[in-house]
Amino acid sequence: MELEKMYKALGVSQEVYAYGEAILAGLRERFDAIDQRAEYNQGKVLAAMQENRVNATHFAATTGYGYDDEGRDNLERVYAGVFHTEAALVRPQITCGTHALTVALSANLLPGDELLSPAGAPYDTLEEVIGIRESKCSLKEYGVTYAQADLLPDGSFDYDAIHAAINGRTKLITIQRSKGYATRPTFSVAQIGELTAFCKSVKPDVKVMVDNCYGEFVVTLEPSDMGADMVVGSLIKNPGGGLAPIGGYICGTKECVERCAYRLSAPGLGQEVGANLGLMPAFYQGLFLSPTVVAGALKGAIFAANVYETLGFSCVPNAQEERHDIIQAVTLGSREAMIAFCKGIQAAAPVDSYVTPEPWAMPGYDSDVIMAAGAFVQGSSIELSADGPIRPPYAVYFQGGLTWYHAKLGILMSLQKLVESGIVKLPQNPGTQSL
Ligand SMILES: *Cc1c(COP(=O)(O)O)cnc(C)c1O
Repeated sequence: MELEKMYKALGVSQEVYAYGEAILAGLRERFDAIDQRAEYNQGKVLAAMQENRVNATHFAATTGYGYDDEGRDNLERVYAGVFHTEAALVRPQITCGTHALTVALSANLLPGDELLSPAGAPYDTLEEVIGIRESKCSLKEYGVTYAQADLLPDGSFDYDAIHAAINGRTKLITIQRSKGYATRPTFSVAQIGELTAFCKSVKPDVKVMVDNCYGEFVVTLEPSDMGADMVVGSLIKNPGGGLAPIGGYICGTKECVERCAYRLSAPGLGQEVGANLGLMPAFYQGLFLSPTVVAGALKGAIFAANVYETLGFSCVPNAQEERHDIIQAVTLGSREAMIAFCKGIQAAAPVDSYVTPEPWAMPGYDSDVIMAAGAFVQGSSIELSADGPIRPPYAVYFQGGLTWYHAKLGILMSLQKLVESGIVKLPQNPGTQSL
């Protein structure tokens, strides 16, 4: 009763609140399973911190060249421990996920080499990195070619096409774990492992890089446990735990990571330079919190799928499916519905709650994009956010939430806005809905 009043004060009607509670009643078991995975992953992070004897000296700030930055070097050992890799590069100088991927690709591909994506088109921003869309300084400009094998109509890997695409010049295979702005399913770690093994059986010396954005700590294994040579991601997504204000990571073999370090700083300098600028407390503590934060975000994603699927909207993943990342795509079918949904997410935010999100042209994307985010860290998508390109099928991609309660409020507010704008009519007896 008290809670209901609080939701009312926050802008959620009694009707919307009741609908949410009826949906939640059916999700307890799934939430328990998420908590168990988070518990395992918390242990994994703790073990890596203990093995590397993390102590207060590792939190000291360095400036300038950052020589002998023990905090930075030890954080990289901790990441290598968590991802079970030989080496890691974890830096505030990696400005975002796209940058981390660019470093990993350009460090490990030379003129004349070919990059292969065996599972369809990569994330939007990578199109310019690779040169699929013309851009200055693309890999294409440097003489690296690109090949792609599309998924079969049922979403599975086209092994014949992949086999045919691998040739003498194929140097690196890029596999994107999360769906990005596509409506294909996210790949499981097991599927990525299978694809990695297949590519290496065709060409044993080929390197495999996995774009691990949004996938970290969702399950208990990572693609690096399944033979990937590099896993790459952003610290303003899962592994930063909401506390990292910038940064990216590349975990992998010593050989690959060393090249990445030379590419990021300079040949000859590599991992030796790069001041931490006082960010070590946020990086360590964010990684420590990440399994719990990811669990909250997953609960939000599952709640959203169950709310919207019962209202007739198509959801990827659907209401019942296992999760391999924290993204929830909801196909809303119109520009107006996308805007209403995003208004609700925005209104639920701790920061900028009074702002109205509008579609606009974003660098790196080829259609207008709408984004709702009221984040402590600009653009952070481990914080509650929703976005999507304004193009058919008019799907919003919902993700994040530093706490489950905030994710829940965001979803209820999105529904509230859809109800208020007349796009959604709630059924009278949500308890009797058949799921
Ligand atoms: C977010 C994301 C990226 C790019 O990361 P930015 O930090 O936005 O540059 C790349 N790939 C996938 C799958 C992503 O989700």
